[in-house]
Amino acid sequence: MSTVLHVDRSALFRTLLKETFNGFGWKYLAAEGIEDSLQIIRQTPVDLIVTALELSDGRADELVGKVNDGKRREIPIVIMSSTDSIEIRKHLLLQGVIDFIPKTITPEQLRTYIQKLIRRDEIVDAMKEISIAVLDDSEFDLKYMKSIFDFHGITNVDFYKDPQELLKSEKKYDVYLIDVVLPKFSGDQVIYQLRSQHKSCVILAVSAVDHFKTISNVLLSGADDYILKPYNESVFIARLKSSVRHLLLYRELEKKNEELTKMIITDQLTGLYNHQYIYEQVKNEIKKSERYGRTFSVIMFDIDDFKKVNDTYGHQVGDVVLVKIAEKLRESIREVDLVARYGGEEFLVVLPETTLENAYLIAERIRQAVENLTFGEGIHVTISGGVAQYAENDTENSLVARADRLLYVAKREGKNKIKK
Ligand code: GH3
Ligand code: MG
Ligand code: MG
Repeated sequence: MSTVLHVDRSALFRTLLKETFNGFGWKYLAAEGIEDSLQIIRQTPVDLIVTALELSDGRADELVGKVNDGKRREIPIVIMSSTDSIEIRKHLLLQGVIDFIPKTITPEQLRTYIQKLIRRDEIVDAMKEISIAVLDDSEFDLKYMKSIFDFHGITNVDFYKDPQELLKSEKKYDVYLIDVVLPKFSGDQVIYQLRSQHKSCVILAVSAVDHFKTISNVLLSGADDYILKPYNESVFIARLKSSVRHLLLYRELEKKNEELTKMIITDQLTGLYNHQYIYEQVKNEIKKSERYGRTFSVIMFDIDDFKKVNDTYGHQVGDVVLVKIAEKLRESIREVDLVARYGGEEFLVVLPETTLENAYLIAERIRQAVENLTFGEGIHVTISGGVAQYAENDTENSLVARADRLLYVAKREGKNKIKK
């Protein structure tokens, strides 16, 4: 549970905010001035301070100075005031106040505001899952970095002093923190190599060199950001988070893209490739055969009397038959072979590096396997097939048409047959 400390002299405002914060599950603590606030903070962990400008024993800026005096993790402080003076705002922001909210804010607006503040920490959670590599030749800097990560509960970090060791490492990290000034090797070379090896990772350059040429060179080498030393710890973590947010977005897009690509080439019912995709693959095989003088074969299968299956047992049973035959086809072929649902109850198999004779044997084996399948309560189904081998000057149309004609011959000759 999160805790808010509200500092305000007005009992009315204290009651209002208590109701609001309790309403969305926060623990509410109240104070009227600086001294009682400090006493509370010493005793209880506080996640957020909301304070008025004028307090019982001083002003908000004094409170801010005392609260975050030399502390490592700063408590976010928000001023609740209706002042629109730029001077006052600027002064308080320079003191470390993170934002202002008007006294007229509605509970609903306040809720949205608080959710925005908390959401930032979802990225911190994500960072605990993420692997980080730090490269720095200075033992002191490595230790400092480690203490920051430890403090934020980020433990999945490896530390490197030697660039070669990092570049040789088999491990792929999600985030790389690279010191720019290194002995022998320069940081931008390391960054360039890392970037050529891993496209989707975050690379952050860390350096005390504040020269535009170095900065632009390092960014152009593939770094996502350039963090100047000495840095403020909260700015460093915020920058890291911002990069990780982009990484997560990128990965989500990549995943969605893969899913979409898979959907575009897949037949929804059977999970086999679809007509369009296998047709493209036949084209590709023809190109390969032309270029490298190789050969390949195709088989066109069609279920025999499938209409009867539907008419007798219903369309749903028909679908089950299709799915089971698809499974049988998939498990009957090599990894380099392709099988697609070419039409309603037609399947096309593409067999690279396979002669007509061998393709015929494979087709015959599949025909027998289907003949021996039982679908539900004693339902049996057979298939027929036509086999064709690529010949010079074949187009995808002429090759598939030849297999199709042979399939037709198999049907005419009584079905449950393979013709070549
Ligand atoms: P043949 O032995 O000559 O191939 O006869 P057939 O009955 O198998 O061939 P026909 O072309 O007359 O009928 C094909 C049937 O396949 C008709 C159609 O309803 C059915 N079909 C096509 N797609 C699907 C599908 O996705 N699910 C089901 N259940 N049936 C389908
Ligand atoms: Mg049929
Ligand atoms: Mg058909």
